[in-house]
Amino acid sequence: MNHVPFRSLTTPAALADAGLLAADAVPGLAGVAERYAIGVTPALVALSGAHPAIARQFVPAAEELLVSPAERADPIGDHAHSPVKGIVHRYPDRLLLMPTLSCAVYCRFCFRRESVGDAGVLSPAEMTAALDYIRATESVWEVILTGGDPLTLSARRLSEILTVLDTIPHVKTVRIHTRVPVAAPERIDGGLIAALTAISKPVYVGIHCNHAAELTADVKAACGRMANAGIPLLAQSVLLKGVNDSVEALDNLFRALVETRVRPYYLHHLDLAPGTGHFRVAVEEGQRLVQALRGRLSGLALPTYILDIPGGAGKVPAGAAYMSPEGDGTFLVRDPQGSTHAYAPDIAKTS
Ligand SMILES: *Cc1c(COP(=O)(O)O)cnc(C)c1O
Ligand code: SF4
Repeated sequence: MNHVPFRSLTTPAALADAGLLAADAVPGLAGVAERYAIGVTPALVALSGAHPAIARQFVPAAEELLVSPAERADPIGDHAHSPVKGIVHRYPDRLLLMPTLSCAVYCRFCFRRESVGDAGVLSPAEMTAALDYIRATESVWEVILTGGDPLTLSARRLSEILTVLDTIPHVKTVRIHTRVPVAAPERIDGGLIAALTAISKPVYVGIHCNHAAELTADVKAACGRMANAGIPLLAQSVLLKGVNDSVEALDNLFRALVETRVRPYYLHHLDLAPGTGHFRVAVEEGQRLVQALRGRLSGLALPTYILDIPGGAGKVPAGAAYMSPEGDGTFLVRDPQGSTHAYAPDIAKTS
């Protein structure tokens, strides 16, 4: 239950040996390495050499120690909504269960960067308490396994957790948020798929993917194995400066996902985690990009642009509004090209 099985590179020196960092940058990264987990899997080492947009996501940078006043250790208020260790319960009908805080790869912009890392596995007693909380809380309709990355657990361990969730009558569906299909596609093997499909409840898999180049032949094959096994696949992406902050990059990413049978679900506006300013795109720019995609891309390929309100108030669509009320029951509506139209629904006249 650590990332050693992936033979990840976990130090600036190892990344320099692999050619992903200049040797003279290594001493300047000691502070970053001390503060934040580092891990790059073989699959992503291979991609990082050829694609700066991939390397930027995983290779540590000195800017990570620059913290702006708006940034905070717990950007989306997980702690405020944690009734027991390993659970974040913010919305009545769904909660997060975090069996481990280990990941296959450590993204430099991670919103949980202050908590993720190798040491964060729930003990058996803590896991029992977390599952007891779910069993006792009848409003919980959906359990979202996240972390850390739940697919770094062994198939046996994952299966144990899913099997317990399967026995809780009010839990109707399970979702797993993971970066493993991209970071270590070879882990999506028969044993893991058997664990994901052994229970009677639906298990949705949400894949974190930010750039079309992440969807290599191996990653597409791993997604295909899950899709063929009947597992519905979603994607979550993060809007990142220098990675995917252009209409072309997002267009390529969302099309490649749909072509891989993965439905783009959310495009996240970057959370205010410490030392992530070099990845931050202005909201206005995000809105412009998303607006440019509307009309250009199939609706199937368009995710919702999402802001998670700092402090724990929840997620809301961050896109610009297309309809503005004019006060007399009519609306001014903006089309994908930016022209405006009056929309006067009949209901205003007959009521
Ligand atoms: C993001 C999140 C969810 C899931 O939100 P959806 O909009 O259903 O994808 C649930 N609980 C918490 C605490 C979250 O942060
Ligand atoms: S895989 Fe997810 S939880 Fe892990 S470092 Fe990346 S963003 Fe954070």
